[in-house]
Amino acid sequence: MVSVPFGRFLLPGPTEVHPDVLAAMLRPMIGHRGPAMVALLTALEAPLRRLFRTTRRVVVGTCAATGFMELAVRSGVRARALSLVSGAFGERFAAIVQACGHEVVRLEVRPGEVVEPDMLRDALRRTEADAVTVVHSETSTGALAPLAELAPVVREFDDVLLLVDAVTSVAGSPVETDALALDFVFTGSQKALALPPGLALGVASERMLTRARTLPGRGAYLDVVAYDEAFAERQPTNTPALSLLYALAAQCERIEVEGGVEARWARHDAMRTAVEHWIEGAGGTLGFGYLPRADRRSWTVSCLRVPDGTSGRAIVRRVAEAGWTIGTGYGPLKESTLRIGHMGDHTREGVEAVLEVLEEAVR
Ligand SMILES: *Cc1c(COP(=O)(O)O)cnc(C)c1O
Repeated sequence: MVSVPFGRFLLPGPTEVHPDVLAAMLRPMIGHRGPAMVALLTALEAPLRRLFRTTRRVVVGTCAATGFMELAVRSGVRARALSLVSGAFGERFAAIVQACGHEVVRLEVRPGEVVEPDMLRDALRRTEADAVTVVHSETSTGALAPLAELAPVVREFDDVLLLVDAVTSVAGSPVETDALALDFVFTGSQKALALPPGLALGVASERMLTRARTLPGRGAYLDVVAYDEAFAERQPTNTPALSLLYALAAQCERIEVEGGVEARWARHDAMRTAVEHWIEGAGGTLGFGYLPRADRRSWTVSCLRVPDGTSGRAIVRRVAEAGWTIGTGYGPLKESTLRIGHMGDHTREGVEAVLEVLEEAVR
């Protein structure tokens, strides 16, 4: 195995895992119905509430984040959802609504754009939806939806649940679960939390739980009611990925040491600002630009248009030859963009260093 110094792996998921967090995974197994398990889940309660800005229960599942997309749909959609689609993950949410046997109405915008509050209000007037699905930080385009403005619009309508994919925003930029009264909000372990992949974490509102109890198609493994009941007893639903829970506990401690989730947000803000400064300077001169407009840019992933006449994929390959990993564009944006994942435990200095490598790669 080649040893590479920390900070050179900047994919927009999975993200680089700090050695201290990896080391925490080497602890021995415990019985998942015994007192050690109860102690572990109890210790996680307060830090996870702070992370999600909620006084409610944070449930943790052993699955990819997509599992909790499906949970959100099975436990949250009655008949018809309005799905906001601003990229690949918004489209995935819409496709899951359909795959679960519900009707879906897509409200789609061009890559790099997001659905704005007025568009959402118009669509909800025209559509009898009982739920809205939205991706907060659309990792495929680097666009950040104005969640704080969209949530109150949903609240204007009676009996409509707001289901939020916050996979690349929780732990990297503000997600105010309680203040915005989000009905289900979730993330995965391998994004801004900077853990290995395999855990999904989510919070359900009382409204969501009440609705879920009336829905016959919730399934078994991904049932929000089952999660809520198990975690009320500080129990996992099934045998959990214990090693990942050890890593999560270690990461929660590291977040507290850093100064809490606000300090983490500030660091991510500094990383995205470093990219913005670069685009205003050297990067822009070389022909790089942002895909999303200002004020709609993710704090955790920057999606950049590459200079005219160059290939995003070729640039990413040259960056890799220099020893750094960044992401190619997603799907149809593969040649025209590239993505820098600056989330988790990365630093402003690290982002500035990769931008220098990027400059060399196009010179
Ligand atoms: C990565 C990602 C997902 C899917 O995560 P998996 O763990 O691969 O299922 C969903 N939504 C967003 C916004 C993501 O970035």
